[in-house]
Amino acid sequence: MFLNKVNYRITGLFTLLFTLLSALTFSFLFILLQTFLRNEDHANLNFKLLGLEAQYHIGGVNMVVSKLDITDMMINGRPYFIRIVKGPNDVFLCPSGWQSFDFTPLQQAVHGEITTLTSRELNYELEVLTTITPDNCIIQTGISTQYRKNLTSILFKVFLIVFIPLIILSLILGTYFSSRALKPIENLTKAFKEIIHTGKRKKTPEAAGNGDLKELTRLFNIMLDKNETLIVGMKETLDNVSHDLRTPLTRLRGAAEVALSSGNPEIWSEALSDCIEESDSILKILNAIMDITAAENGVMTLNQTQFNLSKIIDSTADFYSFLAEEKMIRIKTYVDEDLIINADEGKLRQAVANLIDNAVKYSDNGGVIEILADKTRDSVEIKIRDNGKGISPLEINNIWDRLYRCSESRSEQGLGLGLSMVKAVIQAHKGEVSVTSTEGLGSVFTINIPLATNSDETVSAEKTEKD
Ligand code: ADP
Repeated sequence: MFLNKVNYRITGLFTLLFTLLSALTFSFLFILLQTFLRNEDHANLNFKLLGLEAQYHIGGVNMVVSKLDITDMMINGRPYFIRIVKGPNDVFLCPSGWQSFDFTPLQQAVHGEITTLTSRELNYELEVLTTITPDNCIIQTGISTQYRKNLTSILFKVFLIVFIPLIILSLILGTYFSSRALKPIENLTKAFKEIIHTGKRKKTPEAAGNGDLKELTRLFNIMLDKNETLIVGMKETLDNVSHDLRTPLTRLRGAAEVALSSGNPEIWSEALSDCIEESDSILKILNAIMDITAAENGVMTLNQTQFNLSKIIDSTADFYSFLAEEKMIRIKTYVDEDLIINADEGKLRQAVANLIDNAVKYSDNGGVIEILADKTRDSVEIKIRDNGKGISPLEINNIWDRLYRCSESRSEQGLGLGLSMVKAVIQAHKGEVSVTSTEGLGSVFTINIPLATNSDETVSAEKTEKD
């Protein structure tokens, strides 16, 4: 559990990295220092040896020995060792305190090289430099590694004294800062858990600053907001669909009951035609939902024929002018008479009808609706303009979503499927649909259906027929 927490894992990882890097740096420094001190010792030995050799050349072994100050045999304040071998029986060793070292390796010592001697009693070595004179006199001088060893051990202790508290501090600070930095993720986890356990949600606190985590919590909140809106929309739609289905189903049942209780064939046939009418309106709702799904999945089938779109627009506008009259709304049309295109007539009629229906539904009494249709260079453009309630800028991007209904419009009948249906149909024709709206002043919905695609498809449709 403890190790599962991301902040502890990050801190642990960084502390490990910090420890490794520090240990590496210290080791590197140790090696550098050791090499430097060893080189300095060897240079001093060399210097000393040169002096002794010069004395030897002037006055032989006796001169060297007579010049030695036994009480002050120091190199940089450290005692040094001298051994002079002139013949098998003539060995001079100074001072005698070095006796605990094993001198055997000195017999094979090579001119100009360092020989390292060890001792059983002491934990440091004696490094000896050898020179052999032309008359075979071996002069050797040495210095112990004790000083270097002591220095290294002191440095190591200092390293530990400084380093261990540093690691503890880095663990504490690392945990503190990583916990602080990862707080937004912890909040998100809590929010997820709360949603899973209670099914309800509180707003997740946004992360401080401007970093990625702030963006993450912001997007998370937006996603939850969207989901909430969708769920509310779906609930409402389910209510609306149930309501919209209940009415034709009740009427259908009523007509069937009347027919059953009557022995009159005339009533039977009237009831049957009522049943067909009611079934059609149920089918219409269900087909709309299925069509949108098909279009969203890119598999909407178009039954394409060549027809004059202006006739479709005019007849649909005529149909709605009766409805509009109830609200004293005038529908004006400015439609080019020649709008021959190759498309799915039924679906385009439905799309135009949905837009006019909305224009009537969301306009106040006495409003004016204008329908304009014209050919542009490469498309047919239809505009449906109303001076109704308009759409809030906060909601305008959502109106194309399936089941979305603006908060202002909930009092009106509707399923929130009309515009997604329009978008699905127009996109299936490779066209575009857009809206501009000013709240309180009205909206303009614009459809563009490309001519090029249509003519291409006409050709391929004709070709298929011939084949
Ligand atoms: P609905 O069944 O609610 O009309 P639509 O998909 O047709 O569903 O429209 C989605 C939402 O867009 C509507 O709920 C409404 O708020 C808004 N809307 C659509 N057309 C208009 C319009 N002409 N004027 C104002 N609001 C509109």
